[in-house]
Amino acid sequence: MKLMFDVVIIGAGITGSLIAHRLSKSDLRVLVLEKENDVAEGATGANSAMVHSGHDPKPGTLKCKYNLEGNRMFPDLCKELQVSYVPIGAYVASGSPEEEERLEVLINQCKERNVPFEVLSGEEAKKEEPHLADRISKVLSLPSTGIVTPWEVTIAAMEEAMLNGVELRLDCEVKKIEKKDDAFLINDEIEAKVLVNCAGAHCDEITGMLRPSPYKVLPKKGEYFVLDHLDGSFVKHVIYPVPTAKGKGVLAVPTVHGNVMLGPNSDFTDDPEDDATGDGLEYIRNQIVNTMKDVPYHKMIHTFAGLRPNIDLSDFYIREDEEINNFIHVAGIESPGLSAAPAIARDVVDEMILPKFTSKEKENYVHRKPFIRMDEMSDEQINELIAKDSSFGKLVCRCEKISEGQIRDVINRKCGATTIKGVKMRCRPGMGRCQGGFCEPEVLKILAQELHKKPDEILLDKDGSNVCVAYAKEEL
Ligand SMILES: Cc1cc2nc3c(=O)[nH]c(=O)nc-3n(C[C@H](O)[C@H](O)[C@H](O)COP(=O)(O)OP(=O)(O)OC[C@H]3O[C@@H](n4cnc5c(N)ncnc54)[C@H](O)[C@@H]3O)c2cc1C
Repeated sequence: MKLMFDVVIIGAGITGSLIAHRLSKSDLRVLVLEKENDVAEGATGANSAMVHSGHDPKPGTLKCKYNLEGNRMFPDLCKELQVSYVPIGAYVASGSPEEEERLEVLINQCKERNVPFEVLSGEEAKKEEPHLADRISKVLSLPSTGIVTPWEVTIAAMEEAMLNGVELRLDCEVKKIEKKDDAFLINDEIEAKVLVNCAGAHCDEITGMLRPSPYKVLPKKGEYFVLDHLDGSFVKHVIYPVPTAKGKGVLAVPTVHGNVMLGPNSDFTDDPEDDATGDGLEYIRNQIVNTMKDVPYHKMIHTFAGLRPNIDLSDFYIREDEEINNFIHVAGIESPGLSAAPAIARDVVDEMILPKFTSKEKENYVHRKPFIRMDEMSDEQINELIAKDSSFGKLVCRCEKISEGQIRDVINRKCGATTIKGVKMRCRPGMGRCQGGFCEPEVLKILAQELHKKPDEILLDKDGSNVCVAYAKEEL
């Protein structure tokens, strides 16, 4: 029997998940298909995590329009989803006459776009940011720049969408699509009236299943160093260099949880799944000295890489297909796609999907409960929690101070964690300086108990990443 849906979304990154979240406010039947075993596994899981102010994209592009609008929507979206949004502010730091000239272009764009800004001398900026490189002479301050945890926003959006009836199928790669009369037939078993392509670095393959794709993905890799918690002592704002034709350049970015990321580079790769780190890290070391000094590399705890789903057109490609009715492209969503995502989701849903149906707003819409953040609680609140459930008194991750109760909570939710990485993304065991060396076996044991699986069935991350391969003694 075929499964019938009003809307099927391919891809559970930030764009697919926010579209699903907005659609969950209507009475449409919505399904999200994701090839990986969790949400936010593509570009959304590995980026600079910044909500850019909108000072930078080329005038007249969709990137510019949606970045500006998304930046304005982000604080309210995060409040609604009960996830962190930190209006941290950014400095664009220039240190030569050529760079100062290029900074003027950005200053004028801020004026034209109503982006709040201030121009600081090098000395003024260094009082706030003592680790700015000595050469820095003029700085553009952008107070409306924010930071988020991109996968937290995505997981929360999907959790709330699912609480309101959206279905999510993980481990479900779309391999075949046929157009049959008024519907799409996906993988021979799922029917959709409207199909939305949010497949990131694979968006051209999805389109190619229906017609020759008008765009080709040219993935661009970005690598990063992650430094341990530095409590603002190294950098308080996001620090950008002056952008070049190659992009925004190598940044120093504080994270919501007090780490600092250094990166990214921007290099083309042929493989849309290539997330290995390598030569890019040396490039980052060489470039960061243009804006920062005394980088505390001894605090480095991790490196990672993400792939921008860049296409061979110079802008986002967001529209209903010209040849195939009801097929919607959300393609080429490279940077600033995270910042732009709330505005993209609004327009895709309100202008391209809802007018096709006579749908009603959902009655009794349910909001999700926030993740339990014991590090944000008072001693009194923590004691109350432990009195109700003693598992909140058992510390599993000593680096990030995460309790067993928090881990059980993130497994037992809609869009809950099913892998060790899934737990890490939701409540942070393994994000600290031991990188899971101490807590991973305990997280594995809790996952096995909660999911009623054997320990050797529990995955670290993707398919085939089983942690236990055999039992030395009897089973746990
Ligand atoms: C290094 C780097 C730095 C960045 N920094 C920023 C930043 O600071 N600020 C900002 O605004 N933007 C930034 N971006 C851009 C931002 O991360 C992306 O624009 C955004 O995450 C794209 O989201 P998406 O949902 O469209 O795609 P993705 O997150 O890539 O999601 C696509 C999903 O589709 C799934 N999929 C693919 N093919 C199939 C299939 N056949 N069947 C089922 N599922 C499929 C994938 O598994 C994936 O989960 C950065 C990107 C990178 C890589």
